[in-house]
Amino acid sequence: MSDCVFCRIVRGEIPSKKVYEDEHVYAFHDIHPVAPVHVLVVPKVHVDSMAHLSGEHEAAMGRLMVAVGRIAREQGCADGFRTIVNTGRVGLQEVYHLHLHILGGPDPLPPMLKR
Ligand code: AMP
Repeated sequence: MSDCVFCRIVRGEIPSKKVYEDEHVYAFHDIHPVAPVHVLVVPKVHVDSMAHLSGEHEAAMGRLMVAVGRIAREQGCADGFRTIVNTGRVGLQEVYHLHLHILGGPDPLPPMLKR
């Protein structure tokens, strides 16, 4: 069994503030929020990063993407939100279990990248 921190959260071995769960997907509040809404959405299956996805992950990732809008709405993001997937060294990924950040207001978020 994986000792990856997000695998352990999915298995309930590390506490998390769960906001959504289905057969393929688990979502929980980020432990260090950078916006009023900051939720992480992960596939239950361990995948190191977005760069490691393959055809076997289509069902889980399809379910994950479909769940994002619902999770965001339930967290109060009816007027919009931002999604981020940090990948690898250049993307400054910290946790090597693929995860999608949902960031939301109520106020508009700062620009994504400085020009
Ligand atoms: P990144 O890999 O850079 O996309 O970011 C990893 C995110 O995971 C960071 O925003 C952390 O605050 C968050 N994080 C790390 N450990 C936990 C945990 N045990 N529970 C909730 N969020 C976590």
